[in-house]
Amino acid sequence: MRKLTLILPLFKTRAVPRRRVPSGLLSLAAEVQAIKDVRVDVVDAESLGWDAADVVEYLVLSKPDAVGISVCSPTFPSALELMKVIRTEMPEVLIVLGGKYVTHSWQSALNAGANADAMVRGDGESAIAVLAQALAAGANRMEIVSALAELPNVWVPGKKAPTLPHAFNLQTAQPWPLEVLAHNLDLYQGDRMLIEFSRGCPGRCSYCLASRDRQQISFRPVAQVVETIAHFSAKGFSSFFFTDDDFAASPSHLACLLEGIIERGLKIKFDANVRPDSLVRCEKIAPLLKRAGCRCLWLGIESGSPAILETYRKGFETNVCERAVVTALIAADVVRTNWIIGAPLETRETVNASMDFASRLQQLGPHVPHISFMVPYPGTPLCDEALALGLISPSHLAELAESTHGEPVMPSQFLTKNELKELFYEFHQRYFTPESLASLPPAVADEARLVLSSAGLTNKKLPLKYKNGDFRESCIHRIEQHGEDYSSIKTPN
Ligand code: SF4
Repeated sequence: MRKLTLILPLFKTRAVPRRRVPSGLLSLAAEVQAIKDVRVDVVDAESLGWDAADVVEYLVLSKPDAVGISVCSPTFPSALELMKVIRTEMPEVLIVLGGKYVTHSWQSALNAGANADAMVRGDGESAIAVLAQALAAGANRMEIVSALAELPNVWVPGKKAPTLPHAFNLQTAQPWPLEVLAHNLDLYQGDRMLIEFSRGCPGRCSYCLASRDRQQISFRPVAQVVETIAHFSAKGFSSFFFTDDDFAASPSHLACLLEGIIERGLKIKFDANVRPDSLVRCEKIAPLLKRAGCRCLWLGIESGSPAILETYRKGFETNVCERAVVTALIAADVVRTNWIIGAPLETRETVNASMDFASRLQQLGPHVPHISFMVPYPGTPLCDEALALGLISPSHLAELAESTHGEPVMPSQFLTKNELKELFYEFHQRYFTPESLASLPPAVADEARLVLSSAGLTNKKLPLKYKNGDFRESCIHRIEQHGEDYSSIKTPN
């Protein structure tokens, strides 16, 4: 029996490992499971907190013929290190690299010294099936590389640029084989379980990687998704997060899923990302969302400035967002709105327009704005625009590919990075006043607290408009209402 191990590398800069079931690798493993004579297992090094040495210790014992490593931007450095150790300790093992980082920055990966036998761009299900079939047929390393080289989206040494494939059609996807995890499901207890219903998005946003290779939308069979949720539910998981690019992309598909969850009697809570215009098309099924257990909808509004929305190619106008917030308030316990600061043409006025719009939306009902900075990911139209305007230089592309949204990584044409950061604080200050926090329903107040803490906003950074003690008092008020421990929140100076 030949063996393939799929690995999610460690996210080194995260102080505490985040424990999220590796949904992408489980989808790949499902395709391998369907092929006889190949065994697959999944090592979630990120959740296990395993560094390269730990992973290789496991591999030396389990002796795989091939490994597949899935890389996103922040995990690329540890994937590089892992490849190096595998090459030293197990030089005969075939290494295939895939994931978001490779999809969009395969050249940067090569330039950085990624020592893989093959790299897969886009959804990896087809490539992993070819690899597994070759393993099952007894192919050696060179023969497997040759088989992979036939696929247009796979790079192998000596081959020119691989293309970006269409997204994998989930209609034919196999159910996740949870038994292939190298550890127990209990590792994920306490976190939201990831679940996939659809892939793809009708949007064409200029900054989004999904808009390039996920333009076709496909759905897993409803019965399969309901069955997977029921399985997790039986193991004690009640909190879920749909990984879909746009959970509301199809009202009819969504209605079937929600009815399936309700009919099965599953007592769950779930979060999901939605486009505002898609959610508006789901207005009629908003009560169904609530009945099925919708805890929080994350609405991608991004800006209150029509001009900036146009540069982002969002494809909707601000008035749609108002209807979407009203729909979300019916559909979910908590409404999050996502905002971006740092478009190439961002000005103080356009950020002000976002702050004003967020406050206007607040009149419709409580929502929690989550503000992040623009990252011009290589391969997106927005990155090309930023390069043309001289806001970033080609030598920064590799570094940008590894950036996250917590800090400004480029100025706009009119604002420095420091000014963008100040506006980020101002947005929080204007929106999260002690009075507004104190008036929020408990579930929404908890979400606001999470947003403030994930933005790194201890009260120290919000001193200007908070009188000494106000913020802490509003938190204490929450403790009284909700019994949570806010003692770590410091009083502002
Ligand atoms: S709506 Fe979201 S997932 Fe869709 S293209 Fe825009 S940013 Fe990407």
